[in-house]
Amino acid sequence: MDRDEAQGIERAAELVRRSRKIVVFTGAGVSTESGIPDFRSPGGIWDRYKPVEFGEFLASREARERYWIRSRETYPTLAQARPNAAHLAIARLEQMGKLDCVITQNVDGLHQKAGNSPEKVIELHGNTHWVICLSCSHRSPRSQWQPILESGVTVPECPDCGGILKALTVSFGQPMPERETREAERRSAECDLFIAVGSSLVVYPAAQMPAYAVQAGAALVIVNMTPTYIDDHADVILRQKAGVALAEIMKRVEGSSDVA
Ligand code: NAD
Repeated sequence: MDRDEAQGIERAAELVRRSRKIVVFTGAGVSTESGIPDFRSPGGIWDRYKPVEFGEFLASREARERYWIRSRETYPTLAQARPNAAHLAIARLEQMGKLDCVITQNVDGLHQKAGNSPEKVIELHGNTHWVICLSCSHRSPRSQWQPILESGVTVPECPDCGGILKALTVSFGQPMPERETREAERRSAECDLFIAVGSSLVVYPAAQMPAYAVQAGAALVIVNMTPTYIDDHADVILRQKAGVALAEIMKRVEGSSDVA
């Protein structure tokens, strides 16, 4: 770590020390160190698959087939993934009583696996470990469908009503969950420190959350490998791997005696 990076870490640690109501906002970049590719980095999901929009998913069986091929091929990595140092550092913030909530765009469930309580995690884009019937709302664990997909079923159907099944995640063109979106907006506007980790901040309305925090006077820390639209408003920008940066910040916070 060079001198600038070390100073950035220390400034971020100081902000964590004096904050009592921290919102951590995460994107796919917080989970790349757990082996889950993000969408937009080279070698990411969009280099390998064309996104299936919600409208075409509903309208065309061929689109549903493409959707389930991608799901069949990518789910094993998601199912096996373990939390990394970044998830664990965020879970420590909750144990220290400093975390208001985690707002995540991720669908992998790794914050909960790292030890964050489910009620502290706001999932803006759903959770890939569940499948829902779009007709009768029957829910089933995603794990139960993997052997069925691998046995050659290309488009699974609801066992109860024969309706269209989809992972409990938000696709492009699909409405955002209302309660979670409202809650995330409110919490962002009420925090004293907003830490955005591993998100390109290009998917809206999620990407709006740091702006709500800044407008309301919160400090902003960004941990991301590439620039974002809101970098100019950040108190600290760390262009480092999330696991390295967050572990280092927490080491300094926990090593000091003047924690608020
Ligand atoms: P994105 O792919 O647009 O951006 C990821 C960002 O993280 C990039 O700017 C990249 O530079 C940065 N990054 C990658 N690895 C990093 C690391 N180790 N440390 C720090 N930064 C790192 O992802 P996004 O902003 O989350 O938005 C896209 C959508 O992707 C979200 O809606 C989310 O639902 C979905 N997604 C989720 C997962 C997951 O659940 N793990 C995986 C892929 C995509």
